[in-house]
Amino acid sequence: MDSLTVSYLEMLEQHDAEACRILRAEAARQETTIELIASENHVSQRVMHGIGTCLTNKYAEGYPGRRYYGGCRHHDEIEQLARDRAKELFGCKYANVQPHSGAQANMAVYMAFLEPGDTFASLVLKDGGHLSHGMHLNFSGRYFKPVHYPLVYDEAKPDFEHIDYDAMRALCLEHRPKMILCGYSAYPRTIHFEKFRTVADEIGAIMVADIAHIAGLCATGVHPNPFPHAHVVTTTTHKTLRGPRGGLIMTNDLELHKKMNTTVFPGTQGGPLMHAIGAKAIAFGEALKPEYKTYCRQVVSNAQALVSALSEYGYRLCSGGTDNHLMLVDLSARDADLTGKDAEAWLESAGIITNKNGIPKDTRPPMVTSGLRLGTPAVTTRGLREEHMPQIAAWIDRVLGSGGDEGECAAVRGEVREFCEGYPLEH
Ligand SMILES: *Cc1c(COP(=O)(O)O)cnc(C)c1O
Repeated sequence: MDSLTVSYLEMLEQHDAEACRILRAEAARQETTIELIASENHVSQRVMHGIGTCLTNKYAEGYPGRRYYGGCRHHDEIEQLARDRAKELFGCKYANVQPHSGAQANMAVYMAFLEPGDTFASLVLKDGGHLSHGMHLNFSGRYFKPVHYPLVYDEAKPDFEHIDYDAMRALCLEHRPKMILCGYSAYPRTIHFEKFRTVADEIGAIMVADIAHIAGLCATGVHPNPFPHAHVVTTTTHKTLRGPRGGLIMTNDLELHKKMNTTVFPGTQGGPLMHAIGAKAIAFGEALKPEYKTYCRQVVSNAQALVSALSEYGYRLCSGGTDNHLMLVDLSARDADLTGKDAEAWLESAGIITNKNGIPKDTRPPMVTSGLRLGTPAVTTRGLREEHMPQIAAWIDRVLGSGGDEGECAAVRGEVREFCEGYPLEH
């Protein structure tokens, strides 16, 4: 634990021992486990403590220079700083840093460009889309009409389990959605943004890239940038981007920017989380440094090293591997009876944190699944490199191969704990 956190917890203990105990336990969990959830990361000390600032005390409804409350001078400055850094990072003209989360960012975008009942296109959700891309219980599926493009499901084709761009075009020509969405939660391959833009132009649709997962890779050129192809880009700030939890919307078009400013506030949100915006400014500052680009390259190298190590144990990687920070492991190739649910639970007991995930054409329900999603952003932050990936794969296979045997999981837990001591979270 870093010294600021230690002194904070000591202070908290005097006032609220109960909350303090829980925070200490969580800090210890993070220190002693291997975090492979693809959407998570460990923020720096500067970002961590950037969340806990006096900026939280203020109501700052509105935007810099146009607020509904007095006393916002410094809030204007910090929000402007966050916007300017976001624009520099992604090479675009306008940014709205107020969305509380990725889903909130998407909601404001839908509200700006669609009327209730309007059609939009997104990836088949079970194949890697996000719930805010049209899931029936989500606002996006309840108030709008999603049509879904598929992956290539033909095993014989070289782009098996990649996006089927021809099918995407055919679907869009048939349904003429007002908006075409790309960007996913469990897709390990490069997204060809220009192909979506071509189709959007053909049918007069707006093209939105939701780069929640790959934002950091896009900002550093490790994955192609959605600009200038996308009309609108949404993202989270807390996944590969390694900032505080939050959302962000960007565009190069002033009219679209104005429209979306209105649908963020007052359309879908009230007062902005100014403490989070302060931490976004700090995180974007970090991402603009050359070291961050090195980090993003290492994230991808580590993911590719983990793919090869797992393949050697007989696991099948969906789409055959990865171009980014994540991979989808099809467990059925290793053991037809093994579910994602069991794998996740057994690995957690061994100190390896993952999430079960559906694989393309999965026949098991979402709470069970036949796959695991693994990602390398958090372990890379911790300092792990390619040479550590075979060890992680070996632990994973030991746990899964043992059928979740308690003794074996406990033994791996001990080794993982010891290993983690050598790679402490930032001090
Ligand atoms: C994570 C994610 C989101 C939503 O982020 P939240 O901050 O959890 O609301 C949106 N879109 C995609 C593609 C994501 O992966």
